[in-house]
Order: sequence, then C-alpha cells, then structure tokens
Amino acid sequence: MKSNSSTLIKLLVLGCLSVVCVAEDFDFFYFVQQWPGSYCDTKKSCCYPTTGKPAADFGIHGLWPNYKDGSYPSNCDPNNPFDQSEISDLRSSMQKEWPTLACPSGSGIEFWTHEWEKHGTCSESVIDQHGYFAAALNLKQKLNLLQALESAGIQPNGDSYSLGNIKDAVKSATGFTPFIECNVDESGNSQLYQVYFCVDTSGSDLIECPVFPHGKCGSQIEFPSF
Ligand code: AMP
Ligand code: AMP
Repeated sequence: MKSNSSTLIKLLVLGCLSVVCVAEDFDFFYFVQQWPGSYCDTKKSCCYPTTGKPAADFGIHGLWPNYKDGSYPSNCDPNNPFDQSEISDLRSSMQKEWPTLACPSGSGIEFWTHEWEKHGTCSESVIDQHGYFAAALNLKQKLNLLQALESAGIQPNGDSYSLGNIKDAVKSATGFTPFIECNVDESGNSQLYQVYFCVDTSGSDLIECPVFPHGKCGSQIEFPSF
C-alpha cells in the first residue's frame, strides 16, 4: 500500500500518540507577571496573603492560552476543577512566586482556583494541572525579570523610567520582547503593572509574541517600591 504522507503530516500536526490525538485549541500562551507594588498602591489597595507579605519581586498572575487573532478561550472545562492535592509539592513555591493580593487576605487557593478554571482548563489537552502550575513556576525562574531590570539600573524605588529603556533591558536580558501593561497609582501616575511574555503551546519555550495585547503606557512610567 502506498504510504499516505499527507495523513502522516496531519497526525503530526494534531500531535498524536499512538492513535490518540489532541488538537490544541489555542495558539500560544501569555505568561503574565505582576509588580505587587503597583497592585497595592492603587485606589483599590490590596491585602497581603495569610502567609505574610510577599517578597519584593514580580509575582505570577497567570499563564493564559490565547489565539493569534488576539481573542482567548476561557472556562473550558467545568468538569476539571482545581484540585490542590495535585500540586501539593508546588504549594510552598506557589505561595512565594504566585501570591494573592486580593482582599480579604487569602492563602492563594482562591486565586489559583480562578486561574486554573478560567485559563488553565483551556490548555488541558496539552498539560494537566500539575504541568500547568509547574510550567508557570519554571518560566518565572527562567526569565528572572527583576534581575533583568535591575542590572540595567531600573529599580523599584519610585523613580520613572522610559518605556523604551524598560523594553530594551528586558529584551537584552531575556532575548524576548515583552509587552508592558500599566495601571495608575492613587495620584494618577502611570506605572509598571504587568509584564507579558509569549510561550509556545507546550508551556515551556518562550517565543516572540504573535500578537500583543492592547493598552498604552505613558512614555515615562513609574516603578514603585513594594
Ligand atoms: P484574569 O481573570 O486571570 O484575567 O485576571 C483578572 C482577575 O485576577 C481580576 O479579578 C483581578 O482582580 C485578579 N487578580 C489579579 N492579580 C491578582 C493577585 N495578585 N491576587 C489575587 N487576584 C488577582
Ligand atoms: P507608541 O507609544 O504607541 O508610539 O508605541 C511605540 C512602540 O512601543 C510601538 O512599537 C508599540 O507597539 C510599542 N508599545 C507601545 N506600548 C507598549 C507596551 N505597553 N508594551 C510593549 N510595547 C509597547
């Protein structure tokens, strides 16, 4: 029989193990990190986790499946709820690296549940719950974002920095162009709030972003302390 190479190609694209295939239903992830000082110094304020004030470092907000057209899937599987027993080995790292800042104070479970159920379930064809949280923790460690900024003299000390310098510093230290999201502090100053990187559908390799989110910072933005 003639070997059917187009079938083989289709199987490879779908990602088939034996005859069981998973079609990925998203194009890439945004990996989003957040500066806690900028979450907390707004009108809304914040509450420290029950485990104590987080370190003065970027925290993970989430790992979000996205489409190349800029839209994204959400809440993909109500039958796959967050189960903390699946990630008990990651819990202490998550408390450090993925701290909740919402009020009232919580342990983080509520925040991680939200992230898994809204975003994580949309990547369950590629990674399970443990793989999802482990992927985010690994990305944070690999990127070392605060170090990238500080080694370019961009420090969380309340000074303002140019958006261009921030992007250049991150690009040269990590190799990838970030998207910078700003918010405003209580006095209305634009400040560095969240930093987005793009990741392939495996959740492990950084890529250049196929599409950036919308939103605009000032050309000079504050980097508040925490
Ligand atoms: P998402 O729904 O994942 O797009 O993220 C937005 C939601 O996450 C909003 O409800 C935010 O208030 C919440 N959020 C963002 N950062 C944090 C944080 N550090 N701790 C707890 N909730 C957060
Ligand atoms: P603009 O300030 O809109 O003239 O943007 C100047 C350049 O920076 C353009 O290449 C934009 O796509 C890019 N840019 C604007 N805002 C951001 C942002 N928040 N994060 C990353 N790149 C941005």
